[in-house]
Amino acid sequence: MIKKIIFCKKCLYSNLHPFGLTFDENGICSGCTIHDEKNQLNWKERYKQLLKLISPYKSRSNKNYDCIIPVTGGQDSYFIVFIAKFKLGLNPLVVNYNKYFNTPLGIRNLANLRNKFDVDIILQNVNPISVKKITKHTLMEYGNFYWPILAGHTVFPVQIAVKYKIPLIIWGAHQGLEQTGMFSHTHEVEMTRRYRSDHDLFGTDSNKLKTLDSDLKEEDIIQYKYPDHKELDQVGVRGIYLGNYIRWDPAIQHKKMVKDFNYKSSSFGRTFDCYDYVDCFNYMNLHDVLKLYKLGYSKVTDHACREIRFNRISRNQGINLVRKYELNPPKYINLFSRWLGANEKALEFIFNKQRNSKFWKAKENNKWKFKGLSTLLKKNKDKKKKYKLIKIFKANSKLEYNKNSEYITFGKGI
Ligand SMILES: [Zn+2]
Repeated sequence: MIKKIIFCKKCLYSNLHPFGLTFDENGICSGCTIHDEKNQLNWKERYKQLLKLISPYKSRSNKNYDCIIPVTGGQDSYFIVFIAKFKLGLNPLVVNYNKYFNTPLGIRNLANLRNKFDVDIILQNVNPISVKKITKHTLMEYGNFYWPILAGHTVFPVQIAVKYKIPLIIWGAHQGLEQTGMFSHTHEVEMTRRYRSDHDLFGTDSNKLKTLDSDLKEEDIIQYKYPDHKELDQVGVRGIYLGNYIRWDPAIQHKKMVKDFNYKSSSFGRTFDCYDYVDCFNYMNLHDVLKLYKLGYSKVTDHACREIRFNRISRNQGINLVRKYELNPPKYINLFSRWLGANEKALEFIFNKQRNSKFWKAKENNKWKFKGLSTLLKKNKDKKKKYKLIKIFKANSKLEYNKNSEYITFGKGI
């Protein structure tokens, strides 16, 4: 049976959101309802809760790090380290999973982070042969070539926590809470194996991956294995989300990081946000296009929903922004095809296979008509409230920084 598509009356999400959404009697989605907590909760009190929570970790000893912080060189990395080190007074060990699609700007941001915050960093470089093997497999099987990156970024910090006996891992915001209101801030939800497997990795953990592809060997997936319960319990590993204790507003936070710590941002062809994912050539390009092919909407919708909820743009403006950006072509396909060792035509064929017929109609000569979610959105006539156009999103650099367009496989930055 075809599901009737229902859109939220406030934001642009529908009941087709892959995380699942519920709607109240006024047609407002659970994501918008939970977002309203940002204006209702007593954040001073919540911050006190955070201080209480971290206190036992801080006073443990001076011989080890107090916590682990996963960073990428983009998205919230600076703000999390800033809060942990300068506000909470913790001594963090910063960890980074090498995604191999690194932009010169991301490498530069990581290097600058190490200097500005005076932190130690551990980098994990899984051997590129295994990474490419898994990338090919998940691209063919799920139309997702980001699996190793999502898996690595979510598991490497946990492995380090076990290995170095540092129980506390500090993350930024919880995606399920922020986008779809899966939890309330007051639930103080923490990192779980289950959420990682179900949502971050779309139901495919490393064990399942191996059973699906006989070409993948134990040594290919071992780096992506979540430590077992016993190992986690012995160290007492827990991962907390700062967004439960601090009124999380990525745009404002990034602006502060630009001003105070020289974070560099970049404009993108497929969204107006210039802060997230500046560390990667593919996330806002090829990866985002695949999202549009499969789900009928892309990252610009996520960004527009977020800004609508913060009342920085109207719903109509959000619709305009989505329509302006979502069909723009991705860049840097050549870099990906060269890295993967596949020709561009073959990749295009694989990508096109991911187009969901619910959202795409095939026409002649390899052309497609878009019937995605934004084509069904209706603008409201209510223009009573005038919003300023977003001025917060002004890029101060570009992905290439001062180099050519090329993945930086390993880079120490400057
Ligand atoms: Zn909503």
